[in-house]
Amino acid sequence: MDTFDTLIIGAGAVGLAVARELCVRFPGSSLAVLEQHSRFGQETSSRNSEVIHAGMYYPSGSLKARLCVEGSPLLYDYCRAHGVAHERTGKLIVAHDDRETARLEAILEQGRINGVAGLRMLGEADVRRMEPAISACAALYSEATGVVDSHGLMASLESGAARGGAVLAYSHRFEQLEACSGGYLVRYCVGRGSSAGECRARRVINCAGLGCEQVAASMGIDTRAAGYRLHLCKGEYFRLAPAQARRIRHLVYPPPFHDMRGLGIHVVRRLDGSVSLGPSAEYVDTLDYTVDPSRAREFFESARRYLPFIQLSDLQPDMAGIRPKLQEPGGPPRDFLIADETSRGLPGVINLIGIESPGLTSCLSIARMVADMISHTTGGIRT
Ligand SMILES: Cc1cc2nc3c(=O)[nH]c(=O)nc-3n(C[C@H](O)[C@H](O)[C@H](O)COP(=O)(O)OP(=O)(O)OC[C@H]3O[C@@H](n4cnc5c(N)ncnc54)[C@H](O)[C@@H]3O)c2cc1C
Repeated sequence: MDTFDTLIIGAGAVGLAVARELCVRFPGSSLAVLEQHSRFGQETSSRNSEVIHAGMYYPSGSLKARLCVEGSPLLYDYCRAHGVAHERTGKLIVAHDDRETARLEAILEQGRINGVAGLRMLGEADVRRMEPAISACAALYSEATGVVDSHGLMASLESGAARGGAVLAYSHRFEQLEACSGGYLVRYCVGRGSSAGECRARRVINCAGLGCEQVAASMGIDTRAAGYRLHLCKGEYFRLAPAQARRIRHLVYPPPFHDMRGLGIHVVRRLDGSVSLGPSAEYVDTLDYTVDPSRAREFFESARRYLPFIQLSDLQPDMAGIRPKLQEPGGPPRDFLIADETSRGLPGVINLIGIESPGLTSCLSIARMVADMISHTTGGIRT
């Protein structure tokens, strides 16, 4: 039976970043990544806006604020050093009246408290100079916001982990964990469940995204009592006709939804030059990624406040992603949860729960945090 120092569950951006970081920080230790799909990044990490967030929205002292503000420059540096496509596009959050302008000023203040650089308020004339086609009376400009090629990022992290000796076990679905001497016995199934297998690991890190609650429950954790209950929140995108897309230069956002379940239906610029509007934020019960074409009008009404030149016929269904949210419908915003489970009788287990936005931006800082937790709790991984 194979025995690993560390087993990571999930090969999205976060699991791959953690795998690479541990290979770099603890050379010579053995590591495997279990991923249920046949390739990396088949879930949330390839179904998002690909925005490198600057970190101004999140409450002071939250993990989201800290890991986003640390993660953004780490990600820019990583992309430059490893040839991952990215662009520092800049972003405008636009306002249409005094109330919205006041909300932007509050976001600016929060951003300054969080240590976000490159933020400034713009008046109507400045907005018109930067984005002549857009309608707004004021905007908050974030110079540090940009876009990354999420697939290229994951491919680079995967090859970094593989070079560091990580075993990438695709089509391996984690099923169960049981304590045994020196760590854990991990049960998984292979392919479509046709065969089962076991391995041993001293340490297990749950980076399973939408599957994180189920994985934690399979470890014997009462996820409701622990506050690990996940709520699925779907975000749909509609693609904008190319002729209209060319009229927009930056990422353009409205003020966020009041309950912060999403950042509002905004302009998503992809690195291939295409532009979409989205994502919406609707709580759902199932993992269904279809986009309902009849919702185009809702997107149109929402976006035409700041994109007055678009027509309903400019919007075509694009794609959807699903957020693994801890925030329940109508409830207050929740932070990322990154928990060392020693106190639950699971030493060496780290659960990452509710890694929604800005999880892509923060993947490298999350990976550092996990590596630091391992260093601090046990003095590192002994081989
Ligand atoms: C609509 C939308 C827009 C977003 N926009 C942005 C943005 O612009 N910027 C930003 O920073 N963040 C954004 N995010 C958030 C970001 O996409 C996520 O935080 C990030 O991708 C999470 O990565 P992950 O690796 O944790 O999860 P995932 O990418 O979901 O990876 C988890 C992996 O675990 C695997 N897995 C699950 N269960 C098991 C099991 N039992 N056994 C084996 N494998 C398993 C899955 O197959 C999957 O590959 C957005 C999210 C959504 C939904």
